[in-house]
Amino acid sequence: MNRNRTHFGITLSAAALILTFTNPLMAKGVAEQGLESHPKFVFFFVGDGMAMPQVNAAEIFKNASVNSDIKVSRLSFTQFPTSGLTTTYDAGSFITDSASAMTAMMTGHKTLSGVINMDTKKIEKYKTLAEFAKEGGYKVGVVSSVSLDHATPAATYAKVASRGEMYSIDVQLAQSSFDYFGGGGLTQKGKKDGDADVFDLARKNGFTVVNSKAAFDALRPGVGKVLAHNSVLQDESALSYEMDRAKDDLSLADYTRKGIELLDNPKGFFMVVEGGKIDWACHANDASAAIKDTLAFDDAIVQAVKFADAHPSETLIVVTGDHETGGMTIGFSGTKYSTFFEKIALQKGSYIAFNDEVLTPYKKNHSKENAKLEDMLADVQKYFGIKYTELNDSDKELLDRAFRRSLGGEVERVAQENIYNLYGTYEPFTVALTHILNQQAGIGWTSYSHTGVPVATFARGVGRDLFSGYYDNTDIFRKLSKAMALTVPVTVTMK
Ligand SMILES: [Zn+2]
Repeated sequence: MNRNRTHFGITLSAAALILTFTNPLMAKGVAEQGLESHPKFVFFFVGDGMAMPQVNAAEIFKNASVNSDIKVSRLSFTQFPTSGLTTTYDAGSFITDSASAMTAMMTGHKTLSGVINMDTKKIEKYKTLAEFAKEGGYKVGVVSSVSLDHATPAATYAKVASRGEMYSIDVQLAQSSFDYFGGGGLTQKGKKDGDADVFDLARKNGFTVVNSKAAFDALRPGVGKVLAHNSVLQDESALSYEMDRAKDDLSLADYTRKGIELLDNPKGFFMVVEGGKIDWACHANDASAAIKDTLAFDDAIVQAVKFADAHPSETLIVVTGDHETGGMTIGFSGTKYSTFFEKIALQKGSYIAFNDEVLTPYKKNHSKENAKLEDMLADVQKYFGIKYTELNDSDKELLDRAFRRSLGGEVERVAQENIYNLYGTYEPFTVALTHILNQQAGIGWTSYSHTGVPVATFARGVGRDLFSGYYDNTDIFRKLSKAMALTVPVTVTMK
């Protein structure tokens, strides 16, 4: 018997029993749920690694890129009429990972970092909000800018003891009853000889698999189940960072708009959209890439806002983050009370683009004996807007040391742990460059991991009032299921 108690004072096992006596199909639209009406079209947007620093940085940058007044340029979702604050800790730490965070929001249960939709003992499997929605008659779509088997999108459909079991996640996606998957690829990591190709499995399960822009553009309502993954993939089968994306390549907003087009039907839809690379950029302490991906995430939300404007009495949009990443903040010791966000605009490629296009090829062709920092300086200026000659002596020294470390030429005199504190697990030279630029802009970082601060949640449309106040990420599940009038195990415990 599971003796764990939720903070609602009901045992998890007792909550599970409730499911046995209720029929999710009968629940939609019932008045006893406490809402006068229920949205037919529900959008759930998750900015991975996006708390208020990421949101606010994007708003400051958006303004700073057009004028020098001290103002913020509001994103679409910070103008929503309802906002709340959401705690993100998981069952094992005040600092959650994406797997346990999305499990909390998709199932109402806290679990351990790395676990997707299973309990802390990794025995019991939880049904997800997206699956309840599908059973309740909604069409379901999942969109992400990272691979569709990454933790956050995976937590809409998969149940695994470890988020690293990616081939198992891929197979579960292929077997899913959902209607639309769009965005990044499938890594098929862990696929063994003799294992089926998951795209073949998806086709067998009725998915139309699309991986070119022309085929994507040609998709029309009535096509049936769709798995659309981008033809251009950057690191780990993800869409390119927004700042690296070619103009004719598909964006997160494109995948969202297509989802709306394909899912729109009289019974309604539930669409989950993740801005996944905000998190990745913040892990690498690359503010420019994070800000531009936050703006791309906002562009995707604008697609939903347009739809909501056309269906105001039937649509709910909820926007949140799963946790903060990087300990990003507005303010740095060296810039005191000032910021210089216009410097962020000088960066022309993400840290990964610089690595892929400049540093990695250079490392291949040079040894620690013949590598020279001077060889890099033109590209440093081109990618980051940093003029070496204008740096102060300590930044020059920092860059010089990081360059030698990236080229493997310096015998380390400091403990390995200190090296981690300086660069995380990233290329020392590239991290040194983003740190110098970010600090000049007045942006600080404390970590290469997630942090434990709450995130902000925004809502507009039918049922939005549920999302005001200060509540836990597990409550997102309860609030969404209540708004959608889905009968799910723990909904009954909500006031
Ligand atoms: Zn995350």
